[in-house]
Amino acid sequence: MDTMLTIVVPCYNEEEVLPISSKELLIFLLKMIEAEKISNESQIMFVDDGSKDNTWEIIEQLSNEDKHYTGIKFSRNFGHQNALVAGLTSAEPYSDAIVTIDADLQDDINSIEQMIDAYHDGNDVVYGVRGNRDSDTAFKRKTAEGFYSVMKKLGINMVPNHADFRLLSKRATQTLLEFKEENLFLRGMVPLVGYPSAKVFYARKERAAGESKYPLKKMLSFAFEGITSFSIAPIKFIRNLGIFILIIGIIYMAYIFGRNISGNTISGWSSIVGSIWLLGGIQMISLSIVGEYIGKIYTEVKRRPRFIIEKNIRDK
Ligand code: UDP
Ligand code: MG
Repeated sequence: MDTMLTIVVPCYNEEEVLPISSKELLIFLLKMIEAEKISNESQIMFVDDGSKDNTWEIIEQLSNEDKHYTGIKFSRNFGHQNALVAGLTSAEPYSDAIVTIDADLQDDINSIEQMIDAYHDGNDVVYGVRGNRDSDTAFKRKTAEGFYSVMKKLGINMVPNHADFRLLSKRATQTLLEFKEENLFLRGMVPLVGYPSAKVFYARKERAAGESKYPLKKMLSFAFEGITSFSIAPIKFIRNLGIFILIIGIIYMAYIFGRNISGNTISGWSSIVGSIWLLGGIQMISLSIVGEYIGKIYTEVKRRPRFIIEKNIRDK
């Protein structure tokens, strides 16, 4: 089979786990080459995301030992999502398909075989989906569940329990790279690419070595990034809140007016409180209108493709 597969592995301070995972990845790659599912040109590409430890030295040494290893190094830390895009960008010209996988072996390397099979069956995108999250802490599991349900409510199409373990065909990669946005949230962007897709289920394991590079703070900012990159629902929320407050203001004013007629009020107080609610509501609504325009500008500047053509009769 002459499918040239590149496995892209983002690495940030992974000196502890890299000697283990690089070996397992190579064993797997050679097995796939042996089985003639991929070509002997296939490679494992490490993307060193500005590590401060010996990660890059390990990558260089690996590439000297075996031609199936290759790597690129960032000048500083740019983050996981940027590392993935860099890997896709540099592998795309010479790869038929690209798999992205974390360096820590939490994702099951062996399920890449099913991904390759699904690719040969004509799928352009194959999502790795966790069958269970037993290896995560209860807290991480709950927050993840909450996150997916919020995203769904906001109308953002995501594959639940899928992180960044996936296979992309050449054309799916090219299309994804057409999305020029700066704020990357790949697991929300990939479904927008379209094309035939499939899912492969696997059991997510513990980290083989080292520590998570996603502490709570980074996780929360990543979740917020996901919401604000894909939805202007928070602006709509402010608008609805403004309308609600305005209605309360109007009802309150009517009530005061009634009390005034019966002469049963402290002078000055009610008109001040009434104006606070009325003006508060009007201001909030105005803010959300400005926000709507900013939301429009935001989607404009992203310059996402307006359409993606899968087939054209003329090309036959
Ligand atoms: N990673 C990266 N840059 C960063 C943080 C993480 O390239 O700034 C890589 C890391 O080396 C690993 C992957 O992203 O290969 C996922 O990180 P991690 O396993 O620490 O996250 P978790 O699985 O705990 O969510
Ligand atoms: Mg991990």
